[in-house]
Amino acid sequence: MKVIKTIDELFNECLKIRADGKILGLVPTMGFLHTGHTSLIEKANKDCDIVITTIFVNPRQFAPHEDFDSYPRDIDRDFNLAKDSGTDILFTPEQKEMYSANSETNVSVGRLAKVIEGEYRPHFFDGVATVVSKLFNATIPNLAYFGQKDYQQTLVVKKLVEDLNFPTKIIVADIAREENGLAKSSRNKYLTDEEFSKASLLNQTLNNTKQFIESGNIKDRTNINAFMDEQLKTLKDFNIDYARAARAKDLTEPSHFEAGENIVLLLAGTLGKTRLIDNKLVKIPS
Ligand code: AMP
Repeated sequence: MKVIKTIDELFNECLKIRADGKILGLVPTMGFLHTGHTSLIEKANKDCDIVITTIFVNPRQFAPHEDFDSYPRDIDRDFNLAKDSGTDILFTPEQKEMYSANSETNVSVGRLAKVIEGEYRPHFFDGVATVVSKLFNATIPNLAYFGQKDYQQTLVVKKLVEDLNFPTKIIVADIAREENGLAKSSRNKYLTDEEFSKASLLNQTLNNTKQFIESGNIKDRTNINAFMDEQLKTLKDFNIDYARAARAKDLTEPSHFEAGENIVLLLAGTLGKTRLIDNKLVKIPS
């Protein structure tokens, strides 16, 4: 596995790979890798000739009050995990390599970046869109891999690709979970043992809500949201940001969903000091 630290070197390396007619896959991450990340790398390794994994804790997607400084980092451990799961090139730039002191440009996606998670983290998706655009420009990958764990992010990135004509196909991989059902996340490191065990209620809520919709033929959005809210309220010390059902394709929130429609249940909140998100796709019964 080759390690690259500068955009110039990455660009030139990718130019050669593309000139050789090889399929290039990109897996952008913020590091502190877990099986959610390595499952993306393994998937990319199956589809592509060359896999580039990037590790960069992107300051633009953190608000000043958020956890940029304390975000978990362990580059030695990441190096081994990235290598063992099939990375050919590991891109680990310094902050000043990605954002020079006089950098002024931000990429801003519209409505999709402003709703739901965007209401709670208004800076977040512009930060993601900016760093993803920079990585796409440096590598021009055939395929880029993102996790369903960050469902809204996958829609924002697909919109970015469509609107800015990136010649890249976005592949979305399933959510990797802990044994108790909690979605894997680098931030799970912040949880105490007790919180870790209690946090399984997020996934349980999603599963129960899916069952509630499917068996009761529930189509009313406020009913679905209220059901999720009730369940989450039983989780002590969990500060709910949102528990919302929306159309899976564009996150619009009609009062009633149509029979046969694909929807997504989106949850977010803070357990103690740790922000957790999760989601589940559900088909409204016909
Ligand atoms: P992050 O390092 O948290 O920015 O995540 C990098 C990529 O890994 C994103 O596309 C995430 O959606 C994906 N990812 C993070 N956690 C998981 C998970 N539990 N399952 C699948 N993909 C994940």
